[in-house]
Amino acid sequence: MIEFDCSCKMGKHSAPVDDYVIEQGAIKKLPEMIKDYKKVYMVCDNNTYKAAGEKVKEMLEAENKLFSFLMLPDDPLPDYKTIGNILIHANNPGADSDIFEYSPLPDLILAVGSGTINDSCRLVSYRLGIPYGVVGTAPSMDGYLSAGSPTLFDGSKSTIKCTTPKFLIADTDIIKDAPWDMLLAGIGDMFGKYTGILDWELARDYNGDYYCEKIADDVIKATDSCLYNGYKLKDRDPECIKNVMEGFVVTGLGMAYTGNSRPASGSEHIVAYAWELEDVKEGKKPNLHGLEVCEATRLIADMYLMLMEETEDQHLKNLISKYTGYFEAVEKFCVEMKVPSPADDVDKIVNSVLKALKMRDRYTILFYLDKTGQLERYARICAEKLVKRL
Ligand SMILES: [Zn+2]
Ligand SMILES: [Zn+2]
Repeated sequence: MIEFDCSCKMGKHSAPVDDYVIEQGAIKKLPEMIKDYKKVYMVCDNNTYKAAGEKVKEMLEAENKLFSFLMLPDDPLPDYKTIGNILIHANNPGADSDIFEYSPLPDLILAVGSGTINDSCRLVSYRLGIPYGVVGTAPSMDGYLSAGSPTLFDGSKSTIKCTTPKFLIADTDIIKDAPWDMLLAGIGDMFGKYTGILDWELARDYNGDYYCEKIADDVIKATDSCLYNGYKLKDRDPECIKNVMEGFVVTGLGMAYTGNSRPASGSEHIVAYAWELEDVKEGKKPNLHGLEVCEATRLIADMYLMLMEETEDQHLKNLISKYTGYFEAVEKFCVEMKVPSPADDVDKIVNSVLKALKMRDRYTILFYLDKTGQLERYARICAEKLVKRL
């Protein structure tokens, strides 16, 4: 448990995370992190097994703590199939049952991976009431310490509220070798914090929402580190990878501290989800979350810049002007580093913005523009501008 006092309305913040380690050679800390557990259920896929899983499995065997093991099929989706698979293999499915007893279960689920593996283990962990920990393999998304699992069910994708992992091990020597698109996706997901925190400030001033200055400032500082060291990503620089992973930790803890996802996401995440849902409906494999968030961040940034130009509200102008430097720097980074942009169709972008408004009852620039009857005009002008730049 991490705890501290704060000057915001909550007065105190806490998170049920015990520990995290982000450094070169962090994997060596695994025995220490699992010292209180005896029966570990390890979940990975073929790629994450190669990246870190093989080593983790050896370490668990050496400690005599490997209770059960599951290698998921490649590219698992966070759906019934994956969740059911994890549930079935929590104990050896072929083991003789004791019909007078409930099935013996592990005392820790260990997710070795990033997005789907982590999210699906979190849900199973929560439903079974067994803690889980994570060995990260890619700096590709901000959900490591999230308390919610974005899950595909009933024909849609929703975030199911669960709990946070007990620990996170992020070995930058392992993570730096993740596929290139995943590195870009991770830093792209962090860039979304600029629009996300600006949305949070907007919600505070125009909708009376709760806001914690300390947590918001910490998220902006962590995002700045990613941005200013970001170009070193080209060399797979461990320090730069560390900045991104630390950014995920700051936002993940921020979510736990405040009990909502404001520190991690705003309108850019909702628009990105709308794109993802389109792909799921069409039976296409969704793009990497962070790449969609990054592109949506560029779109929302344009909408804010346009609003700053057009509005006569001086307070709003001042608020947005604090972020214009960030927006320019993100744009420059995306162009120079050739960050892939999955959505390149103006109509698709406009429709997803309109859908995003209805997807989540959260006050953002989308609500502000809708209330003033300008959302569709802004979405179209900014989508056209963005597509021209891609
Ligand atoms: Zn606070
Ligand atoms: Zn994200």
